[in-house]
Amino acid sequence: MRLIRRADGYYAQFSIHIDRNEIREKTGRAVGLDLGLKYLLADSNSNFVLPPKFLRKAEKRLKRLQRSVSKKYDQQRRKNKQRQSNNYHKSRIRLAKQHLKVSRQRKDFAVKLARCVVISNDLVAFEDLKSQNLVKNRHLSKSISDASWGILRQWIEYFGKVFDVETIAVPPHYTSTDCSDCGARVKKSLSTRTHICDCGCELDRDTNASINILNRGIDTLGRREFKAYGDEASMLSSGPLGGVSFICELGICPDSSGRASKTTIVVAQFAKFELDHRHLQ
Ligand SMILES: [Zn+2]
Repeated sequence: MRLIRRADGYYAQFSIHIDRNEIREKTGRAVGLDLGLKYLLADSNSNFVLPPKFLRKAEKRLKRLQRSVSKKYDQQRRKNKQRQSNNYHKSRIRLAKQHLKVSRQRKDFAVKLARCVVISNDLVAFEDLKSQNLVKNRHLSKSISDASWGILRQWIEYFGKVFDVETIAVPPHYTSTDCSDCGARVKKSLSTRTHICDCGCELDRDTNASINILNRGIDTLGRREFKAYGDEASMLSSGPLGGVSFICELGICPDSSGRASKTTIVVAQFAKFELDHRHLQ
Protein backbone atom coordinates (compact mmCIF):
# COMPACT_ATOMS: atom_id res chain seq x y z
CA MET A 1 0.00 0.00 0.00
CA ARG A 2 1.13 3.50 -0.57
CA LEU A 3 -0.15 6.92 0.19
CA ILE A 4 -0.60 9.42 -2.58
CA ARG A 5 -1.15 13.09 -2.27
CA ARG A 6 -3.42 14.81 -4.75
CA ALA A 7 -4.62 18.39 -4.68
CA ASP A 8 -7.94 17.30 -3.24
CA GLY A 9 -6.79 14.90 -0.60
CA TYR A 10 -4.72 11.90 0.31
CA TYR A 11 -5.39 8.50 -1.20
CA ALA A 12 -4.46 5.06 -0.07
CA GLN A 13 -3.54 2.88 -3.03
CA PHE A 14 -3.63 -0.89 -2.99
CA SER A 15 -1.97 -2.77 -5.82
CA ILE A 16 -2.78 -6.31 -6.81
CA HIS A 17 -1.37 -8.26 -9.75
CA ILE A 18 -4.09 -9.92 -11.75
CA ASP A 19 -4.37 -11.29 -15.24
CA ARG A 20 -7.45 -9.70 -16.63
CA ASN A 21 -9.20 -11.48 -19.46
CA GLU A 22 -12.72 -10.77 -20.55
CA ILE A 23 -14.86 -12.93 -22.77
CA ARG A 24 -16.01 -11.21 -25.89
CA GLU A 25 -17.92 -12.50 -28.91
CA LYS A 26 -16.01 -12.10 -32.15
CA THR A 27 -17.70 -9.53 -34.35
CA GLY A 28 -15.78 -10.15 -37.56
CA ARG A 29 -15.31 -6.43 -37.86
CA ALA A 30 -12.23 -4.35 -38.25
CA VAL A 31 -11.78 -0.63 -37.95
CA GLY A 32 -9.19 1.98 -38.85
CA LEU A 33 -8.85 5.14 -36.80
CA ASP A 34 -7.57 8.48 -37.98
CA LEU A 35 -6.64 10.75 -35.12
CA GLY A 36 -6.87 14.41 -35.93
CA LEU A 37 -7.59 17.92 -34.83
CA LYS A 38 -10.98 18.63 -36.34
CA TYR A 39 -12.13 15.25 -35.13
CA LEU A 40 -10.42 13.53 -32.28
CA LEU A 41 -11.14 10.37 -34.13
CA ALA A 42 -12.59 9.45 -37.51
CA ASP A 43 -13.12 5.79 -38.25
CA SER A 44 -13.32 3.79 -41.46
CA ASN A 45 -17.08 3.48 -41.10
CA SER A 46 -17.58 7.26 -41.36
CA ASN A 47 -18.07 7.81 -37.66
CA PHE A 48 -16.63 10.93 -36.11
CA VAL A 49 -15.85 11.81 -32.53
CA LEU A 50 -15.31 15.46 -31.74
CA PRO A 51 -12.53 16.37 -29.34
CA PRO A 52 -13.96 17.05 -25.88
CA LYS A 53 -11.88 20.21 -25.38
CA PHE A 54 -11.99 19.94 -21.63
CA LEU A 55 -8.90 22.02 -21.28
CA ARG A 56 -10.21 24.83 -23.41
CA LYS A 57 -13.44 24.99 -21.46
CA ALA A 58 -11.54 25.04 -18.22
CA GLU A 59 -8.95 27.44 -19.57
CA LYS A 60 -10.71 30.65 -18.61
CA ARG A 61 -11.04 29.42 -15.08
CA LEU A 62 -7.45 28.20 -14.98
CA LYS A 63 -6.21 31.58 -16.18
CA ARG A 64 -8.19 33.41 -13.55
CA LEU A 65 -6.93 31.11 -10.82
CA GLN A 66 -3.37 31.43 -12.08
CA ARG A 67 -3.61 35.22 -11.95
CA SER A 68 -4.92 35.08 -8.44
CA VAL A 69 -2.05 32.84 -7.37
CA SER A 70 0.54 35.19 -8.89
CA LYS A 71 -1.06 38.23 -7.32
CA LYS A 72 -0.82 36.72 -3.88
CA TYR A 73 2.80 35.75 -4.22
CA ASP A 74 4.99 38.05 -2.16
CA GLN A 75 8.59 38.63 -3.33
CA GLN A 76 9.41 40.40 -0.07
CA ARG A 77 8.44 37.38 1.98
CA ARG A 78 10.49 35.24 -0.31
CA LYS A 79 13.58 37.42 0.22
CA ASN A 80 13.12 37.26 3.94
CA LYS A 81 12.59 33.50 3.70
CA GLN A 82 9.18 33.91 5.22
CA ARG A 83 6.24 31.66 4.57
CA GLN A 84 3.78 32.89 1.92
CA SER A 85 0.38 34.02 3.11
CA ASN A 86 -2.51 31.68 3.85
CA ASN A 87 -4.44 33.26 1.00
CA TYR A 88 -1.62 32.44 -1.38
CA HIS A 89 -1.65 28.79 -0.39
CA LYS A 90 -5.43 28.60 -0.56
CA SER A 91 -5.54 29.87 -4.10
CA ARG A 92 -2.58 27.70 -5.10
CA ILE A 93 -4.58 24.67 -4.01
CA ARG A 94 -7.66 25.86 -5.88
CA LEU A 95 -5.57 26.01 -9.05
CA ALA A 96 -4.14 22.56 -8.51
CA LYS A 97 -7.62 21.12 -8.01
CA GLN A 98 -8.78 22.56 -11.30
CA HIS A 99 -5.82 20.99 -13.12
CA LEU A 100 -6.60 17.71 -11.44
CA LYS A 101 -10.19 17.88 -12.57
CA VAL A 102 -9.19 18.41 -16.20
CA SER A 103 -6.80 15.48 -16.16
CA ARG A 104 -9.45 13.21 -14.66
CA GLN A 105 -12.03 14.22 -17.25
CA ARG A 106 -9.52 13.57 -20.00
CA LYS A 107 -8.68 10.13 -18.70
CA ASP A 108 -12.31 9.22 -18.15
CA PHE A 109 -13.14 10.13 -21.72
CA ALA A 110 -10.21 8.16 -23.13
CA VAL A 111 -11.04 5.02 -21.14
CA LYS A 112 -14.66 4.96 -22.23
CA LEU A 113 -13.93 5.70 -25.87
CA ALA A 114 -11.11 3.16 -26.08
CA ARG A 115 -13.20 0.42 -24.51
CA CYS A 116 -16.07 1.13 -26.84
CA VAL A 117 -13.86 0.95 -29.93
CA VAL A 118 -12.12 -2.23 -28.83
CA ILE A 119 -15.11 -4.34 -27.84
CA SER A 120 -16.91 -3.76 -31.14
CA ASN A 121 -14.05 -4.87 -33.38
CA ASP A 122 -11.66 -7.80 -33.88
CA LEU A 123 -8.97 -5.52 -35.26
CA VAL A 124 -8.20 -1.90 -34.47
CA ALA A 125 -5.64 -0.11 -36.63
CA PHE A 126 -4.43 3.40 -35.87
CA GLU A 127 -1.66 5.74 -36.86
CA ASP A 128 1.69 5.47 -35.19
CA LEU A 129 1.86 9.16 -34.42
CA LYS A 130 4.81 10.80 -32.87
CA SER A 131 2.78 13.40 -31.09
CA GLN A 132 5.91 14.74 -29.41
CA ASN A 133 6.96 16.19 -32.79
CA LEU A 134 3.56 17.64 -33.46
CA VAL A 135 3.34 19.36 -30.13
CA LYS A 136 6.38 21.44 -31.12
CA ASN A 137 4.15 23.23 -33.59
CA ARG A 138 2.91 26.01 -31.34
CA HIS A 139 -0.30 26.70 -33.24
CA LEU A 140 -1.50 23.16 -33.01
CA SER A 141 -0.04 22.24 -29.69
CA LYS A 142 -2.99 23.04 -27.48
CA SER A 143 -5.50 21.09 -29.51
CA ILE A 144 -3.14 18.19 -29.80
CA SER A 145 -2.39 17.80 -26.17
CA ASP A 146 -6.02 18.46 -25.42
CA ALA A 147 -7.05 15.70 -27.73
CA SER A 148 -5.04 13.37 -25.56
CA TRP A 149 -3.99 11.01 -28.31
CA GLY A 150 -1.35 9.38 -26.22
CA ILE A 151 -3.75 8.39 -23.45
CA LEU A 152 -6.28 7.14 -25.95
CA ARG A 153 -3.74 4.94 -27.65
CA GLN A 154 -2.50 3.53 -24.38
CA TRP A 155 -6.02 2.53 -23.38
CA ILE A 156 -6.81 1.06 -26.79
CA GLU A 157 -3.75 -1.16 -26.50
CA TYR A 158 -4.64 -2.08 -22.95
CA PHE A 159 -8.23 -3.06 -23.78
CA GLY A 160 -6.97 -4.87 -26.87
CA LYS A 161 -5.06 -7.20 -24.60
CA VAL A 162 -7.89 -7.59 -22.13
CA PHE A 163 -10.51 -8.40 -24.79
CA ASP A 164 -8.16 -10.28 -27.11
CA VAL A 165 -8.52 -7.77 -29.93
CA GLU A 166 -5.66 -7.10 -32.36
CA THR A 167 -4.40 -3.55 -32.13
CA ILE A 168 -1.83 -2.30 -34.58
CA ALA A 169 -0.07 1.00 -35.10
CA VAL A 170 0.74 1.66 -38.76
CA PRO A 171 3.11 4.26 -40.25
CA PRO A 172 1.09 7.40 -41.01
CA HIS A 173 2.80 8.38 -44.28
CA TYR A 174 0.47 9.33 -47.13
CA THR A 175 -2.60 8.00 -45.36
CA SER A 176 -4.47 11.21 -46.08
CA THR A 177 -3.31 11.66 -49.69
CA ASP A 178 -3.66 8.15 -51.08
CA CYS A 179 -7.03 7.14 -52.48
CA SER A 180 -8.46 4.34 -50.38
CA ASP A 181 -10.23 2.96 -53.42
CA CYS A 182 -7.67 2.91 -56.25
CA GLY A 183 -4.44 3.83 -54.48
CA ALA A 184 -3.71 6.95 -56.57
CA ARG A 185 -1.94 9.74 -54.73
CA VAL A 186 -4.28 12.73 -54.56
CA LYS A 187 -2.47 15.77 -53.19
CA LYS A 188 -4.53 18.05 -50.97
CA SER A 189 -3.89 20.91 -48.61
CA LEU A 190 -4.67 20.71 -44.91
CA SER A 191 -7.82 22.74 -45.43
CA THR A 192 -9.25 20.42 -48.09
CA ARG A 193 -11.82 18.43 -46.18
CA THR A 194 -12.98 16.12 -48.94
CA HIS A 195 -11.06 13.48 -50.80
CA ILE A 196 -12.08 13.45 -54.47
CA CYS A 197 -10.33 11.05 -56.81
CA ASP A 198 -10.55 10.56 -60.59
CA CYS A 199 -11.71 7.00 -59.96
CA GLY A 200 -14.98 8.38 -58.62
CA CYS A 201 -14.16 7.92 -54.98
CA GLU A 202 -15.43 10.78 -52.84
CA LEU A 203 -15.04 10.69 -49.07
CA ASP A 204 -14.36 12.88 -46.08
CA ARG A 205 -10.58 13.23 -45.94
CA ASP A 206 -10.39 11.66 -42.48
CA THR A 207 -12.62 8.74 -43.47
CA ASN A 208 -10.40 8.14 -46.50
CA ALA A 209 -7.35 8.23 -44.26
CA SER A 210 -8.83 5.82 -41.75
CA ILE A 211 -9.68 3.31 -44.50
CA ASN A 212 -6.05 3.51 -45.64
CA ILE A 213 -4.95 2.94 -42.06
CA LEU A 214 -7.21 -0.07 -41.76
CA ASN A 215 -5.92 -1.53 -45.04
CA ARG A 216 -2.35 -1.13 -43.88
CA GLY A 217 -3.20 -2.78 -40.62
CA ILE A 218 -4.75 -5.73 -42.41
CA ASP A 219 -1.78 -5.94 -44.79
CA THR A 220 0.61 -5.97 -41.88
CA LEU A 221 -1.19 -8.65 -39.95
CA GLY A 222 -1.73 -10.79 -43.02
CA ARG A 223 -5.01 -11.11 -44.80
CA ARG A 224 -7.70 -12.41 -42.55
CA GLU A 225 -11.42 -12.50 -42.65
CA PHE A 226 -12.29 -9.02 -41.63
CA LYS A 227 -15.26 -7.18 -42.97
CA ALA A 228 -13.36 -4.06 -43.75
CA TYR A 229 -16.38 -1.94 -44.35
CA GLY A 230 -18.99 -2.96 -41.85
CA ASP A 231 -22.53 -2.49 -43.12
CA GLU A 232 -24.32 -1.05 -40.16
CA ALA A 233 -21.18 -1.71 -38.20
CA SER A 234 -20.47 1.24 -36.12
CA MET A 235 -18.30 1.45 -33.10
CA LEU A 236 -20.59 4.00 -31.57
CA SER A 237 -23.84 2.16 -32.15
CA SER A 238 -22.55 -0.97 -30.51
CA GLY A 239 -22.92 0.24 -26.99
CA PRO A 240 -23.28 3.26 -24.86
CA LEU A 241 -20.17 5.24 -24.16
CA GLY A 242 -19.79 4.18 -20.62
CA GLY A 243 -20.34 1.34 -18.30
CA VAL A 244 -16.75 0.81 -17.38
CA SER A 245 -17.32 -1.59 -14.60
CA PHE A 246 -14.09 -2.75 -13.13
CA ILE A 247 -11.74 -1.11 -10.73
CA CYS A 248 -8.92 -1.95 -13.09
CA GLU A 249 -9.69 1.21 -15.02
CA LEU A 250 -8.22 3.21 -12.22
CA GLY A 251 -4.73 2.64 -13.44
CA ILE A 252 -2.50 0.92 -15.93
CA CYS A 253 1.10 0.24 -15.38
CA PRO A 254 3.14 -0.10 -18.55
CA ASP A 255 5.39 -3.15 -18.77
CA SER A 256 9.10 -2.89 -19.52
CA SER A 257 8.42 -2.13 -23.19
CA GLY A 258 6.49 0.94 -22.16
CA ARG A 259 3.23 -0.50 -23.45
CA ALA A 260 0.21 -1.29 -21.38
CA SER A 261 0.36 -4.86 -20.26
CA LYS A 262 -2.48 -7.27 -19.75
CA THR A 263 -1.00 -8.43 -16.53
CA THR A 264 -1.38 -5.10 -15.10
CA ILE A 265 -1.14 -3.77 -11.67
CA VAL A 266 -4.61 -3.00 -10.56
CA VAL A 267 -4.70 0.03 -8.48
CA ALA A 268 -7.73 0.60 -6.37
CA GLN A 269 -8.01 3.84 -4.61
CA PHE A 270 -9.94 3.82 -1.40
CA ALA A 271 -10.43 6.06 1.48
CA LYS A 272 -9.91 9.61 0.53
CA PHE A 273 -8.86 11.48 3.59
CA GLU A 274 -9.87 14.99 4.30
CA LEU A 275 -7.15 17.39 3.46
CA ASP A 276 -5.72 19.64 6.05
CA HIS A 277 -4.07 22.46 4.15
CA ARG A 278 -1.79 23.26 7.00
CA HIS A 279 0.07 20.04 6.41
CA LEU A 280 0.80 20.83 2.82
CA GLN A 281 3.07 23.79 3.12
ZN1 LIG B 1 -9.18 6.68 -56.53
